[in-house]
Amino acid sequence: MVQATGLTKAYKRSVALRGVDIEVAPGEVVGLLGPNGAGKSTLTKVLTGLVRPDGGTARVVGAPAGSITARTRVGYLAELFRFPGWASADEVLILHQRLVGRPVTGEGVAEREQLLAEVGLTHAADTRVETMSKGMQQRLGLAQALIGDPAVLLLDEPTSALDPAGRHTVREVLSRARDRGIGVLLNTHLLGEVELLADRVVLIDAGQVVTAGSVSDLTAGHGVTIETDDGTVERAGVTRDEVPGIVAELVASGREIYAVVPRRSTLEDLYLSLVGDRETQR
Ligand code: ADP
Repeated sequence: MVQATGLTKAYKRSVALRGVDIEVAPGEVVGLLGPNGAGKSTLTKVLTGLVRPDGGTARVVGAPAGSITARTRVGYLAELFRFPGWASADEVLILHQRLVGRPVTGEGVAEREQLLAEVGLTHAADTRVETMSKGMQQRLGLAQALIGDPAVLLLDEPTSALDPAGRHTVREVLSRARDRGIGVLLNTHLLGEVELLADRVVLIDAGQVVTAGSVSDLTAGHGVTIETDDGTVERAGVTRDEVPGIVAELVASGREIYAVVPRRSTLEDLYLSLVGDRETQR
């Protein structure tokens, strides 16, 4: 679906991408993580064709990123999108159907009804954008990205303005998209969302991939917390097989064991260990 290798991009004052490889397979949700300024939006824009890389290659459904073939198969939701305030939800979708050359009558009407239902906006078909909450606009943005049955969805912070119920809706929409074989690249700061939804994670920092892998592999580093009569003992990087030995050692040293609690590392642990907390210091 998406295959990019060695992408580089420099702006006048900063280097946004320093050789990024990324792949999204059909029916796969890939979470793109990294601090502000890491290059996530630039990467997403290269894949849509909005930004031309200085080096490397990017292909979408086998065609060069930005080509007509690639563009017609990509659904894109930009981070700071703005729909015209005077337009209703239905009119926004008509506008985008026209942009991608879809019919707006007949099956076009059915497509809009289906998409509004998909994102929970059936009741808002005639509501003007300017009277919608941010969350409603974001769900409309997602419906817009799904016009024309794309093969790939490139989503830049699609859930940032949503409340928990809205996020739940978006998660359901994206998992249905995945079930239909759509590849999704999800650029977000919300690690919890990624943990719930993504099959794989690509973490980038300063324009480079720092780590990539399945969520379960990346969070597999276990730890264990052991409650004893003499306080709590924490051990990191412990496998299941090592736990009995640690407990036996503590018992031999005269401790009484009250509880042994295995701990799986979270994406947040991984993120902080790899990119630190620089973001919060900005
Ligand atoms: P992220 O999406 O991870 O926050 P960006 O891709 O937006 O990162 O930015 C990566 C780097 O490129 C930053 O240093 C940013 O300032 C710079 N940058 C992004 N877009 C532009 C642009 N249009 N012009 C100049 N510099 C840019």
